[in-house]
Amino acid sequence: MRTDTILKYAGERIPRYTSYPTAPHFTPDIGAVSFARWLGELDPAEPVSLYLHIPFCRTMCWYCGCHTKATRRLAPVEAYAEVLLKEIDTIANRTPGRLKVSHIHWGGGSPTYLPAPYFTALMDRLRHRFDVLDDAEVAVEVDPRIFSPEMAAAFGETGVNRASLGVQTFDEEVQRAVNRVQDRDCIEACVNLLRASGVTGINFDLLYGLPLQTVENCVASAETALEFAPDRFSVFGYAHVPHMKPHQKMIRDETLPGAAERLAQADAIAEALARGGHVQIGLDHFAYRTDPMAIALATGNLHRNFQGYTTDAATAIIGMGASAISWMPQGYIQNTTNNHEWERRVEAGDLPVARGYCLTPDDRLRRAIIERLMCHLDVDVDAIAAAAGTAFDMPDLSAFEHAGIISREGNRLAMNPGYRPLLRSVAAAFDAYLPTSTARHAVAV
Ligand code: SF4
Repeated sequence: MRTDTILKYAGERIPRYTSYPTAPHFTPDIGAVSFARWLGELDPAEPVSLYLHIPFCRTMCWYCGCHTKATRRLAPVEAYAEVLLKEIDTIANRTPGRLKVSHIHWGGGSPTYLPAPYFTALMDRLRHRFDVLDDAEVAVEVDPRIFSPEMAAAFGETGVNRASLGVQTFDEEVQRAVNRVQDRDCIEACVNLLRASGVTGINFDLLYGLPLQTVENCVASAETALEFAPDRFSVFGYAHVPHMKPHQKMIRDETLPGAAERLAQADAIAEALARGGHVQIGLDHFAYRTDPMAIALATGNLHRNFQGYTTDAATAIIGMGASAISWMPQGYIQNTTNNHEWERRVEAGDLPVARGYCLTPDDRLRRAIIERLMCHLDVDVDAIAAAAGTAFDMPDLSAFEHAGIISREGNRLAMNPGYRPLLRSVAAAFDAYLPTSTARHAVAV
């Protein structure tokens, strides 16, 4: 019954709601002028978060959905890092004073493809231009295949304290099918280097729904992963969108598990991680029961932003690098995704913005409802509307109620146990733009 109900919604194309409204609604009407004004209006008393995007990898994984480019040459990576130093200055010159920073996140692509001296230079520049708080979280996405002792030393010197490892699967056949071969020894060497350099927070990323994945090899991968005792896991379903990511055409449709199998894989991984002491967070994260993210869930302080679930409560995240998105109190800003244009505009002293979005009061209200639901699986819509000093017209949720997906008392609703995979579908009921959107998102399950 539960499986049938979930599979009814499985093929729907729904955003992941790492923002609301979602990126396809950003417009070129909001650009560098707005961003410069918004940076100038930041409150110097409030710590901000910083995000740096490195859009290079040594090789391309066929499943990749990120904004990145494969290159064997380090020259473009180094040239990019030189420009990123300038973008840090461009941003810092526009903020009111030396802003406090509570969180730095390096994503990509592969930040660890940067030569270690460039990573150190960029961290030094951040610490010079911003007041990075002593207890700031400094997190880096790590490709274990290219993680070197030199980079581990750079992590230790610059205060990196959290790393997310792209593990995905330990099954060799699946690894070959997605062009990402990394054996257990490779992961072990990387984890040992990280821990020896003082990185105390370790996250593993796992995937299901990849070609040749089965419930059995998903469970085996999760159990192997648990042997490394990571603090957190992100477990994503592979999103097959070859119309948007042409390299995904290397993955043949007929090798992909169907919706029922994907659901079974997701369930089996969740059960394996629960047996390992991990608490499920929102849609796709897991944290060991004593981890700050598990505590944030228990205390109602979990958040969701472009990096997914987070304990970071900053109201501003300033993004740097090609394609990076900034989350400002007034709205969203995205840098151009074209590396050459990004370099040209930063070199010219401009903010390299391509598009953005200015939030309306209705957007803020819907964003708060969707964030609460995506984080905590329940929401008191009247309480959120009252806090915003307004009223809210509830969408029609009767189909979800009748199918047993949600329970509802007045305008308080909660996901029913077992229906977490449909969280995005329920959140989508509060999305005012989705019915008219032409964007093609990944499938719901
Ligand atoms: S290493 Fe990560 S960002 Fe790079 S291609 Fe593979 S999945 Fe994409």
